Amino acid sequence: MTDSPLRARAEIDLTAYGANIRALRGIAPRAQFMAVVKADAYGHGMVPCARAARAAGAEWLGTATPQEALQLRAAGDRGRILCWLWTPGGPWRDAVEADLDITVSGLWALRELLPAARAAGRTARVQLKADTGLGRNGCLAADWPELVAAARAAEAEGVIEVTGVWSHFACADEPAHPSVPGQLAAFRDALAVAERAGLRPEVRHMANSPATLTLPDAHFDLVRPGIASYGLSPSPEVGVPADFGLRPVMAFKAALAQVKEAPAGLGISYGHHYVTPGRTTLALVPVGYADGVPRHASGTGPVLVAGKWRTVAGRVAMDQFVVDLGGDTAAVGDEAVLFGAGDHGEPTAEDWARAASTIGYEIVTRIGPRVPRVYVGAAGDAIPMDDTGVDEDAGTGTGAGTDTDPHRPGSHHG
Ligand SMILES: *Cc1c(COP(=O)(O)O)cnc(C)c1O
Repeated sequence: MTDSPLRARAEIDLTAYGANIRALRGIAPRAQFMAVVKADAYGHGMVPCARAARAAGAEWLGTATPQEALQLRAAGDRGRILCWLWTPGGPWRDAVEADLDITVSGLWALRELLPAARAAGRTARVQLKADTGLGRNGCLAADWPELVAAARAAEAEGVIEVTGVWSHFACADEPAHPSVPGQLAAFRDALAVAERAGLRPEVRHMANSPATLTLPDAHFDLVRPGIASYGLSPSPEVGVPADFGLRPVMAFKAALAQVKEAPAGLGISYGHHYVTPGRTTLALVPVGYADGVPRHASGTGPVLVAGKWRTVAGRVAMDQFVVDLGGDTAAVGDEAVLFGAGDHGEPTAEDWARAASTIGYEIVTRIGPRVPRVYVGAAGDAIPMDDTGVDEDAGTGTGAGTDTDPHRPGSHHG
């Protein structure tokens, strides 16, 4: 289903991604680093990003689903991987055999996991998740002592090892929000309960991107940034990426599929919500909502064509939209830049988020599977995943690699 990069492509700058991770590690220097690569690395491509994250020193990778984590194992990653979104049926045994760190948010999960670990004949690595005020996944304070006691009993039996206790913020992207100190206090209480029960977790953690950037008290033993590693700010309140030395990793580009002279009064695209105000030149951009261009940005989305910002004229359709070049001209095949790092006059994913009343997270994550990801950046920066990862015994990653992996990110700059 992936198309030709000549039509449209998402360029992924792995050098910027690695540099962002190094910058974030500098902001949380005493914490271990988990690169969150769920949802195909927020649309950037999970396996190439995971490799680059390991090369930049990420001790951990984080995914939502166990399937994502197992895909990383299948791609050769041997380091620590935490996944957190479980549903009945697991796959618990596969996860235990793959040495994943398994998040348990309630007794039901422990009840499914324990028999699977016994059947696998090995100790499962478990991280307990407390709901300290997000009100989503995780174990609430009232149920926490029972979950902790059950986990401790299973640990004493040798079936599991509790490697972590963690939680997640609701409003860290609004740094002054009163829930932030409340969640920190609730997390400390949850840790105290776990310690009194005899648990000695290797890592305690709750910092997503905004907390990593703005709340050193929330760094604990490990930070888990996602969006910031892709060079986007979690929210305007937190700042702009450059404030933290971060650079957007993804650029979304397309080649003009048609350029034509048009008369005044021509209705453009479905519904005719734009009508040419005079004689003009129209350019057709061959990407649409199937590719992740938000239909909600009809009439508002910005795109750099022929040296200037233009605005989507009329509706974004499934596969294409139109821009009105006014008095300017362009050639078929010329590049249209929907978004990029923003330092060559192009809009950013955050500009698209504003245009579509959403967040940058959604703009990059929803770039569709039809759009090829083209990896750019220093080829030597990324290394084959088989040779990376955290060695269980040594506890540190190694960086040696060979050059034979055909999927190794290289310089396919086009
Ligand atoms: C997605 C996610 C993160 C990363 O969040 P960002 O806001 O992108 O930094 C961290 N932890 C958990 C549990 C998540 O689901």
